[in-house]
Amino acid sequence: MSEVENMARLEALLFVAGDPLSFDDMATFLGVDRDEAVSLVEQLKRRYQRDPMSGLTIRQIEGAASLATKTSYADTLEAFYGKVRDLKLTDAAYETLAVIAYNAPATRAEIEAVRGVNSDSVVSRLIERGLVREVGTLETPGRPALLDVTEQFLMDFGLSSTRELPPVDLLMYDTITEFTQEKQSAAEIASAPRPLVIAIDGPSGSGKSTIARLLSEHLGILTLDTGAMYRALGVKALRLGISPSDQEAVRSMLSETTMDIDLSDRVQKTLVDGTDYTPYIRTPEASRAASDISALPVTREYCVRIQREIGKKQALILDGRDIGTYVFPDAPVKFFLTASHEIRAKRRLLDLERQGDPSTLEDVMRDMEFRDRQDSERQLAPTRRADDAVLIDTSDMSIREVVDVMIDVVRQREQVQPSWSQTRHG
Ligand code: C5P
Repeated sequence: MSEVENMARLEALLFVAGDPLSFDDMATFLGVDRDEAVSLVEQLKRRYQRDPMSGLTIRQIEGAASLATKTSYADTLEAFYGKVRDLKLTDAAYETLAVIAYNAPATRAEIEAVRGVNSDSVVSRLIERGLVREVGTLETPGRPALLDVTEQFLMDFGLSSTRELPPVDLLMYDTITEFTQEKQSAAEIASAPRPLVIAIDGPSGSGKSTIARLLSEHLGILTLDTGAMYRALGVKALRLGISPSDQEAVRSMLSETTMDIDLSDRVQKTLVDGTDYTPYIRTPEASRAASDISALPVTREYCVRIQREIGKKQALILDGRDIGTYVFPDAPVKFFLTASHEIRAKRRLLDLERQGDPSTLEDVMRDMEFRDRQDSERQLAPTRRADDAVLIDTSDMSIREVVDVMIDVVRQREQVQPSWSQTRHG
């Protein structure tokens, strides 16, 4: 094939690709070697530069290139976008925008996985309308573009940040198929005779785990500390040198991770790949890693599935952040515990001192503030009181008093639905 023909073919290829195309891929598609592909791109670029009748140019980024418009025509394009912006968005466009806004940065493949249909043309139109933009590429073969919503989107939708978007269940799922499967298993749980589930949510230091343990002893029901699961996964990531916020690395870690929860002697053992991680999960580093890793959809999906499996089989008290709002939204008894920031920090400091950790109150308060903010402001499963949860401020109460109040609530609910007692353990 002649060089002229190859240039024409390259232009056609870049036109349909839309996204930056790597030189390696260009070489494969054109049947030339990589150096030749690089040289063809250079020539095409020079041709566009020289040609006053062309509004196009080549944009190059690290080993890839794409077709773009010359900046000198920005005014014309802005006028066009303004007109396009005034057109009404289709349902598909709204749905695609929502998927991007909630999952950003997202690839076209991820959008397709969530929506269940190819969304490339919708994405292109959203880019043209200035509501979506490319923010980089993913370091995987093919280097797919990462998409995010723009300032324009935030302005049009009256948001100051995507953090203002309400939480959405769909975020828990990486693909629409998994979403459907989860919905089915949630429906199965709803129709089966239900063991008693007591949800205890609240921020760290609100007394959840101590109280859950005492309540468990009193009621003869097992208790599951869900925070321990996120902590154990955070510790595993740190040990492997993986950033607990790196969704792709965590995804691949989880694909090779087995987690078992041993509640047999009433003291929870959280086993990861057969090793009990309990002794390693209470350090400040583990707390941070847990907060980071638990914000990833892939981790939540992993842990929530296990939590629901355990709660399906037996009566259970679960303590966490999203038990009453997400994991068991139908739990018949829900509590949300809280306490002042200082009291919570002091409790946490006591825990750390018992373990011989040298942290000061200031360290703990700073750490807690960071974690509280991250846990409650994240889009996915933020720490939130369910509408039907009983709120208890434990700041000025002894543990015994809190437990007594909770037992009263359980007893009252039991009078309405006494069948729970048959499903108890102990
Ligand atoms: O409760 P604990 O402090 O042990 O939890 C550690 C971290 O795990 C929390 O800061 C929170 O980010 C995360 N977590 C969560 N959902 C839960 C339980 C804990 O996101 N159900």
